[in-house]
Amino acid sequence: MISEHEATIEILNAVRALPARPLMLSRVLGCFAAEDYLARLPLPVFDNSAMDGYAVVARSAGKGARLAVTGEQPAGPDRRLRVSAGEAVRIFTGAPVPEGADAVVMQEDVTREADEIVINTDVESGEFIRSRGCDLAEAQKILSKGDRIGAAGAALLASQGIAEVSVGGEVQVAILSTGDELVQPDGTLQPGQIYESNSTLLTGLAQRSGAAVTSIEHCRDDRKWLVDVIKRATQNDVLIISGGGSVGEHDLVKDALRDAGANIGIWRIAIKPGKPFLFGNVGNCAVFGLPGNPVSAFVTFLQFVRPAILKMMGATEISLPQVPAVLMIDLANDGDRPHYIRGKLERGQFTPVGRQESHALFGLSRSNSLLRLEIAESLKAGAHIQVQIWD
Ligand code: AMP
Ligand code: MG
Repeated sequence: MISEHEATIEILNAVRALPARPLMLSRVLGCFAAEDYLARLPLPVFDNSAMDGYAVVARSAGKGARLAVTGEQPAGPDRRLRVSAGEAVRIFTGAPVPEGADAVVMQEDVTREADEIVINTDVESGEFIRSRGCDLAEAQKILSKGDRIGAAGAALLASQGIAEVSVGGEVQVAILSTGDELVQPDGTLQPGQIYESNSTLLTGLAQRSGAAVTSIEHCRDDRKWLVDVIKRATQNDVLIISGGGSVGEHDLVKDALRDAGANIGIWRIAIKPGKPFLFGNVGNCAVFGLPGNPVSAFVTFLQFVRPAILKMMGATEISLPQVPAVLMIDLANDGDRPHYIRGKLERGQFTPVGRQESHALFGLSRSNSLLRLEIAESLKAGAHIQVQIWD
């Protein structure tokens, strides 16, 4: 049995970032940039109006001034108008500021009288003008290699006229559940059987991590059958198997993996829940054997599978986000492994939820955060802690 830390190092050393690919902007959400991107254009691209109103020369547009309206500049092609003292150009939000103007007066602050306006407010130079480059300078870095591309980041690329982005490779994941007792949710339960829920759990987690789930299969506890399915599933970048990884006679995953040509680097990690964890590879496919108990599968996915998928996708930041919280009850870990407590983080307060047992899916479904308790660690209510969050 190895420590979480050793396991993480071994897993991350074993997986590589997949080759980058070009992707249309409309499809890059959640991907990671495969190179640095610099601004091709300043933002705003040119001085423009922040309001619908009138472009003026501020020093000739004091309160009470009467100005001649000499033209109109809507958003769109620059009509190359000029404004001199005593004049105004009708202007609209986003329109280029005519030469000579140094302020825009909101239309609500003027009285229009035929071809003239009367200014009803004090006007300062620069007012309601969004000047070229005030948001972003040309050549400024807008995205670093390994950054996750969100909606606003993608919009920023669009604002630069970048229509195609080089992003990290797509990670194709196969999911395989094992166990004679399992029935698919659309089937009928016989005595002794339970519904199979880990495929749903792991598909959700893999997709949330940004991977593409390409196959979901179930296999009975039958070594030959397992070998066949494993050989097929390891055509993917990642295979996640649940169940069958423990020490019982019906736990055949390890043997089946060996039969399928796997190297098994890790078997069992000092973590609670999640001890019967396995990691290895069949050729270029990284294989994770997660415990069958849903909470164990969930915790080990987040601690070991998610970072590996993110590394393969080309991400720089691969750990779960940590946030500060105040613990609401006393907690102690008197076991021999670090314990991940499932809890609910609300308004900065962390409260464990449900039964802290590895089969307790209901409690897990109510939780949104994990608190890691070290061996022999004991915390009092009110303690300031860090918790991991997902989603
Ligand atoms: P195993 O790791 O195969 O010994 O399974 C441990 C526990 O997890 C047993 O109670 C199984 O019934 C349960 N289990 C295994 N696989 C699944 C699954 N895919 N969905 C729901 N429960 C499962
Ligand atoms: Mg089983």
